[in-house]
Amino acid sequence: MPTVSIHAVDHPLVAHKLTVLRDARTDTPTFRALADELVTLLAYEATRNAQVEPVTVVTPVAEAQGVTFSGPRHLVVPVLRAGLGMLDGMVRLLPTAEVGFLGMVRNEDTLQASTYATRLPEDLTGRQCYLLDPMLATGGTLIAAIKLLADRGAASVTAVCLLAAPEGIAAVSEALTDLPVPVTIVTAAIDERLNEHGYIVPGLGDAGDRLYGTVSA
Ligand code: URA
Repeated sequence: MPTVSIHAVDHPLVAHKLTVLRDARTDTPTFRALADELVTLLAYEATRNAQVEPVTVVTPVAEAQGVTFSGPRHLVVPVLRAGLGMLDGMVRLLPTAEVGFLGMVRNEDTLQASTYATRLPEDLTGRQCYLLDPMLATGGTLIAAIKLLADRGAASVTAVCLLAAPEGIAAVSEALTDLPVPVTIVTAAIDERLNEHGYIVPGLGDAGDRLYGTVSA
C-alpha cells in the first residue's frame, strides 16, 4: 500500500464554499468565516479513519453498543501562519484534541521551507496527528512537517489542505514513499498547476494574506 493517499472531497457544500473563497472579491471576514466552515467539512472526512473501540452506554430505554475514540489524544498541528485560520474549524469536530504548533516559512525565491518555531510533544508515539496547512503547493512545507511528526513517533498523519497542486502531491508522494507511517491528504480540490512563483493556479491567492488581510513580511 502506498504511504500517501489523497482524498479530494467531492461534495456540493465543499465546492460552493471553495468557489466563494477563490473569488478575489471575497473580503477577509467572509474568507475567514468560509475557510472555517470548509475546514469543518474537510475534518469530517479527515477523521474517517480515527481509531475507535467498542463501548456500551445505557439509553433511557436500554443498553446500546457504540464506540469511543481509542488510543492517546489526537494531535492537531496548524502550520503557522495560514494554518492557524483552520484551527477552530478542525477542533470543532475534535474538541478533545491536543494542539501543537509548527512555524514554517517558505523562501519565496528558492521555494524551500524552513522551520522557525516548534511547540509539539517530544514523543508522539501512537498519536494520530492532523496537520493543517491550507495550500499544498510545492509540497516542501508539508514534507518537512510530516517527517518531523513521523520522527517523533506519530502513528498516522492526516494533512488537511484547502487546495492542492498536482506538483505538490507528486512531491509529497515521492519524498515519503518509504515513510513507515500512513499519510493521508484531504483537500477540497486538486487544481491545475503551479505558476512560476509557486502559486497554485487557479488557486485562491496567498491564503495567509486573505485570512489576515495583511501582506507577507
Ligand atoms: N501559498 C499560498 O498561500 N498560496 C499559493 O497559491 C501557494 C502557496
